[in-house]
Amino acid sequence: MTTIQQEDFITSVADALQYISFYHPPDFLKSLNDAYEREQSPVARDALAQILVNSRLCATGHRPLCQDTGIVVAFIKAGMAVRWDSPLGIVDMVNEGVRRAYRNSDNPLRASIVTDPAGRRKNTGDNTPAVVHVELVPGDKVEIIVAAKGGGSENKAQFVILNPNESIVDWVLEVVPTMGAGWCPPGILGIGIGGTAEKAMLLAKEALMEPIDIHELRTRGAQSRIEELRLELFDKVNALGIGAQGLGGLTTVLDVKIRDYPTHATSLPVALIPNCAATRHIHFTLDGSGPAHLPAPKLDDWPRVTWQAGANARRVNLDTLTRADVSAWQPGEILLLTGKLLTGRDAAHKRIADLLRTNSPLPAGVDFTNRFIYYVGPVEAVRDEAVGPAGPTTASRMDKYAELMLSSTGLIGMIGKAERGPEGIAAIKRHRSVYLTATGGAAYLISKAIRNARVVAFPELGMEAIYEFEVEDMPVTVAVDADGNSIHALGPALWRNKIGNIPVKIE
Ligand code: SF4
Repeated sequence: MTTIQQEDFITSVADALQYISFYHPPDFLKSLNDAYEREQSPVARDALAQILVNSRLCATGHRPLCQDTGIVVAFIKAGMAVRWDSPLGIVDMVNEGVRRAYRNSDNPLRASIVTDPAGRRKNTGDNTPAVVHVELVPGDKVEIIVAAKGGGSENKAQFVILNPNESIVDWVLEVVPTMGAGWCPPGILGIGIGGTAEKAMLLAKEALMEPIDIHELRTRGAQSRIEELRLELFDKVNALGIGAQGLGGLTTVLDVKIRDYPTHATSLPVALIPNCAATRHIHFTLDGSGPAHLPAPKLDDWPRVTWQAGANARRVNLDTLTRADVSAWQPGEILLLTGKLLTGRDAAHKRIADLLRTNSPLPAGVDFTNRFIYYVGPVEAVRDEAVGPAGPTTASRMDKYAELMLSSTGLIGMIGKAERGPEGIAAIKRHRSVYLTATGGAAYLISKAIRNARVVAFPELGMEAIYEFEVEDMPVTVAVDADGNSIHALGPALWRNKIGNIPVKIE
């Protein structure tokens, strides 16, 4: 009988989480590179190049692919003949593995999990607890999948119960454009069809754990309704023109994975969960012979993409900017920022808003006059880093603060990821401001442009504190100009039209 030792299980989970924090799965990497080679939209191609260069930097530097190091999801299939030598239960063992991985001093990962989600939302400090799914299966082995799922992509999950005669394709094509770019495309769509409400969601998440094989499927041809659906959705979602980071381009999804399950005769539950540019998961088996062996991939597997800051970019000195300067920038322009900016995201904005609404002064050192704010929650720095991986967070969450920030603080612009909503765009237009995007999923590359970082306010907020960053050639794209024109509307519309009119073969 196979005996699984507690320490082997915990070590395996911890090692796996460290591994996926800096190594993209090889199938995802290859698919991303194929999309880069094929891409014709210059801004989308630039974003893809950043994501690929970031991937290689993370693989060599053993630092996280993204500042959001995810919520841990584990799928465990435990053989019914397995004996456990462990005082801890399976969920507690997974959580101990998470704790060790996220507190690893060589490569600390960002703790993003909060308790009391409807109340105080207090960070647990070690990224526990994980979400664990356990299934008892015949056999004497334990098969484990661990994934670190980014919040930006998880937040875009969709669910519907259709009437049995309604079209799944129509529903997907209706909801994907409403998801915006906060899920950091290009990525994968996981779709669950059938079962009950909770079963469909689980199927969608499990589907995301499968290897990318849409090209093999196209070559051999669909042999089931589900395979036909995959090919149809892959082509039609890419034809929406959303593109990398929602900037407009040829590739929005690298694959569409579908799992199904029998359902009630009156129901057609459909769940959709996207996975992002920081797709992270690994599969391994424990057979009682010790912890999992996770061989390091060969660096030769990483494409030799070169991305040069500044090839077609406008260089901008952040320390001398005025509102008049920023109002000349055009959507889609690539900028390289040098100088000082301040950071802040959800919690810091709430604090600032509370102070402004009560006419209280902002903390010393927080002066937004003619400054940009960068929506970011960086990973803790190690060794000689000024800051750990520091990519952008979803900007639309800050829309409700945009008017207050722009009218009351002297702020002239914002940097984040994905589109702004109507409220944010109206404020930008009213104040002749501007909104820039940095590439989601290129966090380590972006951190290389940050030369100095110091906390200037709210240190108790941890990664949500306000920092002052000194940056050099930080790459960003103009997303909303002073007239309120948005690349996230213009880009996909342009590419949707182009894809409809030029012979584009996506394979
Ligand atoms: S790539 Fe985007 S969605 Fe994915 S973890 Fe990073 S910030 Fe979140």
